Amino acid sequence: MRRIGRNSFTEIYFRGCNPSFIETSDGYVMIDSPQQPMDALRWRERMEEKAPIRYLINTEPHGDHISGNAYFPNVKVVGHVKLKENFQRYLNQFGTMEEKRERMKKSDPDSVWLVGHPDYLNPKAPELTFTDKLTLHVGQHTFNIIHHPGHTGPQTSIHVPEEGVVFTGDNIFHKCRTWLQECDPWEWLAALEAIDALDVEVIMPGHGDPCGKAYLKEQAQIVQNWIGYIERFVDRGISADEALKEPLDVKRQDPYPMGQNLFEHEERLNGMIMRNLHKRILEKKQARAS
Ligand SMILES: [Zn+2]
Repeated sequence: MRRIGRNSFTEIYFRGCNPSFIETSDGYVMIDSPQQPMDALRWRERMEEKAPIRYLINTEPHGDHISGNAYFPNVKVVGHVKLKENFQRYLNQFGTMEEKRERMKKSDPDSVWLVGHPDYLNPKAPELTFTDKLTLHVGQHTFNIIHHPGHTGPQTSIHVPEEGVVFTGDNIFHKCRTWLQECDPWEWLAALEAIDALDVEVIMPGHGDPCGKAYLKEQAQIVQNWIGYIERFVDRGISADEALKEPLDVKRQDPYPMGQNLFEHEERLNGMIMRNLHKRILEKKQARAS
């Protein structure tokens, strides 16, 4: 557990995303939920011993940010309207509940009995949604919840001015591999500029250590490197399948290693990134030509 503001804390060593919380004078506000069921329950019990949890705000629809919501059955979940619409599809992205339980027998045996447990059958999609922006006041704290599409369509930043902190989800991967498998890269670059314009000292990324605004340039450069790499294939009329056959030196686009227990996905990730960007860059080129 790491303190990142006067009343803000995060956990960067869990498997999955960096779940965080702010301790207000009227209870807790959580940002994303711990991915592993046992981590989620330990967190909840420690918090609820001290004060109630008022809200759980999701930054994005990827499973490592939302699958722990189920273990907070009495907490009001907040998320972008498109996150709510697509909640079940994203939850099932990495398999059915049965498949998850089987995988967990190896990866996290302590959590197996909690998968599909009758007390936690509601997956807890957002109840409170927004389109562009939503402001919540809890105790003495303000939560500016802002739509910043990029890494995903419903991507959301939570700016807490009293703490000087913004929580960005995976619009920022701090010194670990950037996942661009479904992003709109141009929206992502615009989101990084919008984050830069916020009055904050600390940026809490979806993965990696907390950082400052100095890293935003580097994050933008990684997105731009990938765009440039794929554009060269598109310009030469090379399809995504053909491009994937060429040797890929990922380090030229992104110098950082895979984070938080995700190494097994590395090869599949590169393929997903290349297909996504190839499709988007080709579409953009064709739209310009017509
Ligand atoms: Zn993500």
